[in-house]
Amino acid sequence: QSPKLNRIGLAGLAVMGQNLALNIAEKGFPISVYNRTTSKVDETTERAKLEGNLPVFGFHDPESFVKSIQKPRVIIMLVKAGAPVDQTIKTLSAYMEKGDCIIDGGNEWYENTERREKAMAELGLLYLGMGVSGGEEGARNGPSMMPGGSIEAYKYIEDIVLKVAAQVPDSGPCVTYIGKGGSGNFVKMVHNGIEYGDMQLISEAYDVLKSVGKLSNEELKNVFTEWNKGELQSFLIEITADIFGIKDDKADGYLVDKVLDKTGMKGTGKWTVQQAAELSIAAPTIEASLDSRFMSGLKEERTEAAKVFNFGEIISPEKVDKEKLIHDVRQALYASKICSYAQGMNLIRAKSIEMGWGLKLGELARIWKGGCIIRAIFLDRIKKAYDRNADLANLLVDPEFAKEIMERQSAWRRVVTLSISHGISTPGMSASLAYFDTYRRARLPANLVQAQRDYFGAHTYERTDIPGAFHTEWFKLA
Ligand code: NAP
Repeated sequence: QSPKLNRIGLAGLAVMGQNLALNIAEKGFPISVYNRTTSKVDETTERAKLEGNLPVFGFHDPESFVKSIQKPRVIIMLVKAGAPVDQTIKTLSAYMEKGDCIIDGGNEWYENTERREKAMAELGLLYLGMGVSGGEEGARNGPSMMPGGSIEAYKYIEDIVLKVAAQVPDSGPCVTYIGKGGSGNFVKMVHNGIEYGDMQLISEAYDVLKSVGKLSNEELKNVFTEWNKGELQSFLIEITADIFGIKDDKADGYLVDKVLDKTGMKGTGKWTVQQAAELSIAAPTIEASLDSRFMSGLKEERTEAAKVFNFGEIISPEKVDKEKLIHDVRQALYASKICSYAQGMNLIRAKSIEMGWGLKLGELARIWKGGCIIRAIFLDRIKKAYDRNADLANLLVDPEFAKEIMERQSAWRRVVTLSISHGISTPGMSASLAYFDTYRRARLPANLVQAQRDYFGAHTYERTDIPGAFHTEWFKLA
């Protein structure tokens, strides 16, 4: 046990908690740890010994855990979101004192954080909701962290999180105080929605290259390795290249071909889409990614449908030039990614305005540059776009991004057209392209929708030439 009081505590020692505790200890902050199931406490202190005698001190009961921490006490919780968080708060707060602070590091719904912040304030306790991204590896070696809530509480941990976060040369630690209330959780949620988009777009690039271009896993590995050297350089492209190279350890062939085409999810993508709808922000790429996960779950139905629509392989009228296809897919992936981030950023901005959070979009792009799953060289361009113009209406109209889209739009259209003609669905790339084509058109067919609304519901319409609201009795004129 620790002879002195420890600087910080962490409760919840599953994958994330255990690794973050070791990371914090490694950065020189003695840490007390606790978990409901005590075997995980021993597992963590054992790991701490093996990984270099790190100052991690385990406790089997909540009272001695809380009392082992320096005042004002700071405890990070990393337990399952929802009721387990409430239960853990109840257990720990019984021994905490005025001025102490609880931080929820989980993927929590932002309104739960706001509710808890208020409840804690009544007890004189401070509260933060801090999204942590980067999975197991990030937690251990440097995650991206998104703390929101009490600024006073943030000040207690600033010295710790600045050292524990991923460090990116020239742009600093991947953490910043996000804003008030549940803003940290909200930003983490949208980060996850964007992550859904990135993963979907990459899987579509794979599908087109494999199903239309007939690339082997070896060729795919080489293509993604090459892409990872340029504008698409990112953690997700890097691990995708790795995946294509991994042989099955239970049978012949490659492991990726044996993985069932059914995607799991934990809810943050769905929340992102719900929030987009709530705030009237178009987020079609992120929505398409979520829908694709839903449809992937219908494996049995899809297998039956494949028999009904068994017309063999659709032969495209065009002959596919492999090298050109690889080039085009690269352009389509990048252009689609710009649209997806534009949607995510606009969602964050809309929420920030609604809640009065004052979030800085460029700063968010900066703290996502390292540690997290969506880390990518691309985020630097987003940061620069918001540095050029903090009030940018949409990333698409930033001069640099606009130029990049213009350079890619022909290839992007070729890929979507080709995949349609081959019967290969590219919901993310198609949704991105439709988003772009809708956004760039000064006039949409919405005039007809509004005319229909006025026809059947007297909803009125505005005119292009005369100000005011108009109503026409269309049926009398028909
Ligand atoms: P998890 O599987 O989400 O949760 C397991 C932890 O929650 C264990 O410590 C467990 O304690 C505790 N727990 C569950 N129910 C409890 C209850 N009723 N009372 C007290 N404790 C309870 O763990 P995780 O994957 O490490 O994730 C932790 C948080 O980080 C989650 O919010 C997750 O969404 C988020 N997150 C996860 C990842 C990831 O890659 N895994 C990445 C980013 C964020 P026992 O051992 O006693 O069951």
